[in-house]
Amino acid sequence: MLSYLRGDMMIIKKYSASLYVEALHALYKRMPKNDLKFSKIQEEYYQKVAGNIGEEAVMKVIEQLDLPYKFYAFHNILLYSETLFQMDILIITQYYALILEVKNIKGEITFTDQQMIRTLATNETHAFDNPFLQSEDYQSQLKRLFQANHISLPIFSAVAFAFSSSIIKDPPKNKTIVFRRGIKPYIRNIPANACILTDAQLESLKYFLLKESIDFQPFPLTNHFGIDPNSLRKGVECVHCGLIGMKKVIRNWYCPRCRSSHRHAHEAALRDYFLVYKSTISNQECQQFLQLNNKYEATKILNNPMLIKTGQSRSRKYSMKFDK
Ligand SMILES: [Zn+2]
Repeated sequence: MLSYLRGDMMIIKKYSASLYVEALHALYKRMPKNDLKFSKIQEEYYQKVAGNIGEEAVMKVIEQLDLPYKFYAFHNILLYSETLFQMDILIITQYYALILEVKNIKGEITFTDQQMIRTLATNETHAFDNPFLQSEDYQSQLKRLFQANHISLPIFSAVAFAFSSSIIKDPPKNKTIVFRRGIKPYIRNIPANACILTDAQLESLKYFLLKESIDFQPFPLTNHFGIDPNSLRKGVECVHCGLIGMKKVIRNWYCPRCRSSHRHAHEAALRDYFLVYKSTISNQECQQFLQLNNKYEATKILNNPMLIKTGQSRSRKYSMKFDK
């Protein structure tokens, strides 16, 4: 977790979203294209990448925000109330809390009761969850969490479109939609007359949220999505041409397709292994996954300070801890 202070404002940001994106990418590049879940994973990956870009753009605006009172901004905070719920951006102040649900979706956008429909210039349409239903749900779950802890802070919510490439048709009445440039004025206009929390109470609310926030680590992803790990393509990926199947040669990896060499190419493959395949690796599993020639090569690769050893000699296994 990264946090930094600027004046009376603090940004508290979690990295787990980008680790999840890395894992989705590792999964879909190793999945056979005829797998029934392939397009679902690919779509999830592209949506998350777009979502992250949108959230980063909105967080930049929040970082530049000056308010006449102290506030804390949480990026991608996952909490548990009735269910797990993840807010893109949560702001807390002594006067109110604000949930921003960030969207980065190109095209013409319309809403039905349950869905948000996007139509591209090509007339292609896609359906998404209705973000107002999402943010109302988060609002009520956060309210419940606050009430259980005797916090009576009013909670506002808005759907923030990160880029002007989203064209909103007939926005629903009584719902708050803001575009990136409108975010600062919108927040400045939230009434801040009655001070609900003391400074000390705001501090303890910040620590409470940090303590309650859950690390989203759904790894290995094959388990999370119910995909057979053995269906995945094994091997080391060439950083130059993308071939999965580099050959281990003495002190190096060699790509039979583009003929380039890369000494540390196995490191990314090991990361892929733990993110998508299995949470532990044995010498034999390492030989199979990296397509090594013998157990000595695996021993050498697994003797790595990044890995955590458990068990003795033949039953020894290794795992990897992801901090970011
Ligand atoms: Zn290559």
